[in-house]
Amino acid sequence: MSFLKNWFSKKPTETDQTRTTLNKLLKTMRESVIVVGEDTRIFASNQLAYDAFARQNGALEKKRLSEVIRDLNLHEAFRKALEENMLSDVELGIVGTDKKYDVRIAPIELDEKKGAIGIFYDISQIERLENVRQEFLSNISHELRTPLTSILAFVETLEDGAIEDEENNLRFLGVIRRNAERMHHLINDILELSSIESGKIMIEPKKSNLSNLIEEVFMNLSNKAVERQIRFINEVPKNTIVFADAVRLEQMLTNLIDNAVKFNREGGSVTISYAPAMPNDVVSVTDTGEGISADHLQRIFERFYRTDRARSREIGGTGLGLAIVKHLARLHGGEISVTSTLGKGSTFSIELPQNPA
Ligand code: ADP
Repeated sequence: MSFLKNWFSKKPTETDQTRTTLNKLLKTMRESVIVVGEDTRIFASNQLAYDAFARQNGALEKKRLSEVIRDLNLHEAFRKALEENMLSDVELGIVGTDKKYDVRIAPIELDEKKGAIGIFYDISQIERLENVRQEFLSNISHELRTPLTSILAFVETLEDGAIEDEENNLRFLGVIRRNAERMHHLINDILELSSIESGKIMIEPKKSNLSNLIEEVFMNLSNKAVERQIRFINEVPKNTIVFADAVRLEQMLTNLIDNAVKFNREGGSVTISYAPAMPNDVVSVTDTGEGISADHLQRIFERFYRTDRARSREIGGTGLGLAIVKHLARLHGGEISVTSTLGKGSTFSIELPQNPA
């Protein structure tokens, strides 16, 4: 810290030189830095500190620390550094924002004068990611526990004698199988999402026959549609070509059309349409279902978000389908969007960049 010693020196030329060196040094740091003198007035700081703390305060230099940051723990740590020569670490949250800092406050020897330096490490992003991670884990545990509890209960019932009950034993086994399938589906979706998010999935966009892909998805989902008397309508002209990874496009369409059936009214319809446009083609899936209210609409692509958790579970949902579609659309350089009218239905649109060749 000799440059700081020099900085306090009375010789103006030396001070100027040291100030330049100090400012250069502080500029290179990834942390916000504030240096105070014995009177707790700020006499040096870097641009990051200015960006973080000077919004309402203007230049930081010469201001009292308490005018710039109002936090009792922080002031106490600076007092300890100045008066008791103590180093401390404190966590600082900025009121009214989601900013959080891990701050190290240390005493500095400055010739006869005492000083203290505060190094503010921004942990807002780490905190945010930690919250996402915890929420994800708690969601997964919850989603797995529900079917598992049901499986255990029915196994116990069978063990307790229901296995001899010819009227019910197959029904109980059916419940066990359905719940095991749900767990299987959930784990597959989690693994899929995790591979996509970690960049392990490569997209190979090629010319793909959209109309044929739609017919294939319709065929795969026809049993579900017949069960609920839903009519499939393919408005995409024959031999329409889009530029996409066929397997992934089929996966996206399957997810959207499956939802369009699940959340439709009995006797409703699902229509697929196509609009060629520059720079992105648009493939839309429209249903005649219950629709989604505006407040749900903006969160619908988040992992595990469901407008009606219990109902989604009952009809075999995981809450991960739309998150997977969003990632796949983006991997294509495209996007997914939704419009909806309550009581009338929803339209999910995938934008796909046109073949650049
Ligand atoms: P899920 O496995 O529950 O279907 P998704 O991620 O595919 O999970 O969808 C999330 C939620 O979005 C669903 O639970 C449902 O609440 C809502 N949703 C999705 N598609 C539709 C739709 N076509 N109509 C109404 N609500 C929908």
